[in-house]
Amino acid sequence: MSAVKQQVLIVGGGLAGLACAVRLHEAGARPLIFERSDDVGGRVRTDHLDGFLLDRGFQVFLDAYQEAGALLDTAHLELRAFRPGALMYHASGMHRIMDVFREPRALLTSALAPIGSFVDKLRVAQLRWRLTRLTTEDIAGHEDTTTERYLTRAGFSPQMIDGFFRAFYGGIFLERDLQTSSRMFEFTFKMFSQGSATLPSRGMGEIPRQLAARLPPGTIHLGAQVTEIQPDSITLASGDHFQGDAVVVATDASSAAELVTADGTHEPAWRSVTCVYFAASRSPLGEPIIALNGTGAGVVNNVCVPSDLAPGYAPPGQALISVSVLGTEASADLESRVLDELEAWFGRTVRDWRHLRTYRIERALPRQAPGTGLTGPGYRKEAGVYLCGDHLWSASIEGATISGLRTADALLQPS
Ligand SMILES: Cc1cc2nc3c(=O)[nH]c(=O)nc-3n(C[C@H](O)[C@H](O)[C@H](O)COP(=O)(O)OP(=O)(O)OC[C@H]3O[C@@H](n4cnc5c(N)ncnc54)[C@H](O)[C@@H]3O)c2cc1C
Repeated sequence: MSAVKQQVLIVGGGLAGLACAVRLHEAGARPLIFERSDDVGGRVRTDHLDGFLLDRGFQVFLDAYQEAGALLDTAHLELRAFRPGALMYHASGMHRIMDVFREPRALLTSALAPIGSFVDKLRVAQLRWRLTRLTTEDIAGHEDTTTERYLTRAGFSPQMIDGFFRAFYGGIFLERDLQTSSRMFEFTFKMFSQGSATLPSRGMGEIPRQLAARLPPGTIHLGAQVTEIQPDSITLASGDHFQGDAVVVATDASSAAELVTADGTHEPAWRSVTCVYFAASRSPLGEPIIALNGTGAGVVNNVCVPSDLAPGYAPPGQALISVSVLGTEASADLESRVLDELEAWFGRTVRDWRHLRTYRIERALPRQAPGTGLTGPGYRKEAGVYLCGDHLWSASIEGATISGLRTADALLQPS
């Protein structure tokens, strides 16, 4: 008789929990998801406001993600790509730094942009050449240090690190000190070199929705806060009790620490971000590109206009502007500080923007210190339960998906 786990109770309906459930269901097992909030998606959700689509924090799907790309029906997501590169706002004005391998026509403007030296630009090309030839497994085997030290060792000038990498990777790692693992830097640099940063045309929330739609009715319990777990059962805040063959804790790292170890042993530090949305009658960028603050001063890290890529993000005749501010400073006048700052970037037009909503996301990414990511099985078994989530592989959509899939594969092994 097979001892494959049939009834699997999954705590958390983020991407890790959903990926785990889809793999289990498609292999013939019976997963049940218990999600405490009012919808699936976890950190990947989209709100609707007056015809605008507001992702809960600016984030992108990198279409080079192998496992998430294979699991999802990306054609149906109608991914819309950002141009490969960025606009960099500096004291001398706005400059364009493009990935010239994919936009060769931008070679001259990128070469002439006063950000880093010509040697820095050659080093970017070398890094690109080297990393695109490596697998994620190769990268996982590399010595891990901070991204800042890695870039210095790679020979980049302080001007290039301060004027480009801090802003670009600030938006990805949600910190500008570049203390995140260099393996994570290599992984994301490879992904950006091999594919595009994209948005689904109906919002990032379509990603979890698509996975949820592959599960049979009755699989997902919403508003179901799990308060106690055992290796074969869970209890909800409502007092309801469910019995199964296995329990998977697919929550964020802090909730997992509370549920499983109770003493917070694995409680991680978090990177936080604030996303401020504005509506305007026209886009200040006019193209699908990310604009970055390369000055090293001010609160804004990056700006983009999702409706320039995917018009469905805004009602006809309007533009949706997304501004990311690192951290979650509770300043009452944050929106006006953002506008004051962006007036230097875009001129008086910002005075006509209408504030839509501000998201302060305290627990956006687990801090990925050197030595913590891209290695190991992608899940952990502790006190008889399985743990999965982005904190067990890499803090990304790909990382959460891989972790969920690996956990399901482990459960599907006859024991
Ligand atoms: C602002 C922001 C920007 C990002 N940018 C990018 C990006 O550009 N590209 C990229 O690839 N990734 C990005 N990420 C990271 C990516 O979104 C996450 O790594 C990934 O979504 C994590 O998925 P998860 O399933 O591991 O965890 P989560 O999404 O946190 O899901 C965990 C779920 O568990 C539920 N839960 C917790 N406790 C309980 C309980 N007791 N009972 C029941 N349910 C519970 C939660 O409600 C949640 O739904 C970003 C994240 C944020 C927030």
